[in-house]
Amino acid sequence: MSFSDRSGLIFNLQSYSVHDGPGIRTMVFVKGCPLRCPWCSNPESQSSEPEPGLNLVRCLGLAKCRICLMSCPHGAVKKGIGYPVLDREICCLCRDYSCRSSCPSGALIVYGERVKAPDIIGRVEKEGVFYNRSGGGLTVSGGEPLKQPDFLMDLLELAKRRRLKTALETAGLAEFAVLNEAAGLADVLLFDIKIVDRRIHEIFTGVDNDLILSNLILLMEKKPPHLTVWVRTPVVPGFNDTPAAARALGRYLARLPAEVRFEALPYHRFGQSKYSILGRHFPMGSLRLADGILEAFEGECLHSMKMAGQVNCTSPDSESDSWSALGNGWERGDDSKRPASSDRQIFSLKL
Ligand code: SF4
Ligand code: SF4
Repeated sequence: MSFSDRSGLIFNLQSYSVHDGPGIRTMVFVKGCPLRCPWCSNPESQSSEPEPGLNLVRCLGLAKCRICLMSCPHGAVKKGIGYPVLDREICCLCRDYSCRSSCPSGALIVYGERVKAPDIIGRVEKEGVFYNRSGGGLTVSGGEPLKQPDFLMDLLELAKRRRLKTALETAGLAEFAVLNEAAGLADVLLFDIKIVDRRIHEIFTGVDNDLILSNLILLMEKKPPHLTVWVRTPVVPGFNDTPAAARALGRYLARLPAEVRFEALPYHRFGQSKYSILGRHFPMGSLRLADGILEAFEGECLHSMKMAGQVNCTSPDSESDSWSALGNGWERGDDSKRPASSDRQIFSLKL
């Protein structure tokens, strides 16, 4: 099969991103994920199939517009109080998506487009002038890109042929052979480790983390020299925002047999509105990450790495002088526990 024969299912293509990998990047978000994290900011990524959505914030309301009530040949869009209602039981994703094409305000959405690697790479190349100067390129994210391996390899291989830099963001839950093949093609791997505790991982995400943790260790043993690995941990209230979770993560990172960069990411609720568009309840409710926890988490993680014999790391900066005020088990550490350098967001560790 050639590049032009194989397609992948994506739900977003975003230009000029600066958060996921070095420099300025085009992000391609593929659909399908084996995890079900309740804090997911891309819930439209989770299903491996296209998924309909109705954004009532954009809808003009039935007093002004009733086009969609007549547009669905299956009667899945119904009259509600002032606004249409999408009956997801009836919607069969008819492929014409006439609801979406007829809605004048973009309120009716179908998440999921079939695309081929050359189309994506062509778009990245058009924007390439910015990327080359900034050290950026293409980032493949999701969902879980490793769930669509043929499409992923097409993207990474074609990008390589065109001399575009690539990053792959993964939660690492896939056959090692697939991860290893993708890592061999990418320039940067953004690898999520959510928590080391197996039981808590399973309770919150629906799957245990045995394969994820062993995959990263195995990958680091065989890491190709060109590959840069960033380990990223979202710090989520009620899940892993504890000293115990930070310490366990530090001990795990200290076991990795080659250099990685580590970044703790703050929990946010940017994806909350998408849950109502998809007709789902947002599981995290109004939970917030308390001020100072991110810095304390990084500091405790770093301290734990050092205690486990990890040397040669630069430490994150902390704005938190009073960890005892943070609650949730955090106590003010002695000075050796406190992060010190000005490079707060990312620190490197190397054997
Ligand atoms: S067609 Fe779109 S804007 Fe008009 S009522 Fe339906 S969802 Fe709202
Ligand atoms: S995707 Fe097709 S079946 Fe589903 S609501 Fe839209 S028009 Fe109807």
